[in-house]
Amino acid sequence: MSALILDGKKLAKESELQLKERVEALKARTGKTPILATILVGDDPASATYVKMKGNACARVGMESLPVHMPKQTTTEELLAKIEELNENPNVHGILLQHPVPRHIDERAAFEKIERRKDVDGVTCLGFGLMAMGEKAYGSATPAGIMRILKAYDIPLEGKHAVVVGRSAILGKPMAMMLLNANCTVTICHSKTKDLEKYVGDADILIGAVGKPEFIKTAWIKKGAVVIDAGYHPGGVGDVEKAGLEDVASAYTPVPGGVGPMTINTLIYQSVDSGESFLGK
Ligand code: NAP
Repeated sequence: MSALILDGKKLAKESELQLKERVEALKARTGKTPILATILVGDDPASATYVKMKGNACARVGMESLPVHMPKQTTTEELLAKIEELNENPNVHGILLQHPVPRHIDERAAFEKIERRKDVDGVTCLGFGLMAMGEKAYGSATPAGIMRILKAYDIPLEGKHAVVVGRSAILGKPMAMMLLNANCTVTICHSKTKDLEKYVGDADILIGAVGKPEFIKTAWIKKGAVVIDAGYHPGGVGDVEKAGLEDVASAYTPVPGGVGPMTINTLIYQSVDSGESFLGK
C-alpha cells in the first residue's frame, strides 16, 4: 500500500479559486477589496522572497497588498509607529510583519502592536490565547494551514496521539493547541526532550517542526502514521527524512508542495475573511 500524498499545492490552488470569487463578490458589493499590508524590515533575501510570494498570492485572488519596506536600521519605536499607522488605516484589513526582523528590534513588541482584528498571520499573544480557548481568532498561518490540510483529506484526529516536534511561538505551540482543540492527545517535544525517538515512534499524527534538515528519521516513525513535515530547507528538504517515508506513513505532506503553499494560502484566506468582516459581507 503506498501512502496518500497530502497535496498542499493542489489544495492551495483550489482555495485560491474560491477566494477569488469571494473577493469579486465583495468588490461588487462594496467597491473595495481586502488589503493586506506586508512589512519587510531590512534586506534579507529569503524574507524579501517570502513577502513577494505573499504579494503575488494576493494578486492571484484579486486582492491588493500594500508593501511597506523599512530600512534595516529601523528602530523598534519606528516599527511600532508604522504598525500603529496601519492599525488606524481603515483601508488596511490585515497586517503581516515578515520575520525574523533585524536582531536589534523587539520582535515580540512589534507583533503585539498589531491590532487583533488585523492579526491575519496569528502572531499576537491575544490571538494565540483566544485560539487556544477555542474563541474566534486567526490562527498562526502555518499550523492553521496544516489543520486545513488534515481537514481537506478527512484525516481522523479525535483520540489520536499527535506528537509535535518543536515548540516555537509561530509553529509548535499553536499547532499543539489546535490539535488539542481537535481532541487529539498531544505530546510536545523540544530540544530538551529525552528519548525523542520513543515519542515519535508512538505518534499517530507526527508534526515535524524542528528546523533541522531530515532530523526526524523514517526508522523512528510508526507504520501507518500521518506525517506532516513543516520544515523547509534549501534543495527541497524537510525536517523529516524523505527516504522510505512513503513505505511507513499512511499519508504525508511532500516537501516542497505540502505545508508551504498552504501557509501562504491561509494568510490570504484569513485576510479575505478580515476584509469581509471590516467591509461587511
Ligand atoms: P524554530 O523557532 O527554530 O523552532 C524549532 C523548534 O525545534 C524549537 O522549539 C526547538 O526546541 C526544537 N528543536 C530543536 N532541536 C531539537 C532537537 N534536537 N530535538 C527536538 N526538538 C528540537 O523553528 P520554527 O520557526 O518553528 O520552524 C520550524 C521549521 O518549520 C523550519 O524548518 C522552518 O523553515 C519551517 N517553517 C516552515 C514554514 C512554511 O511556511 N512552510 C513556516 C514556518 C516555519 P527548543 O524550543 O527547546 O529550542
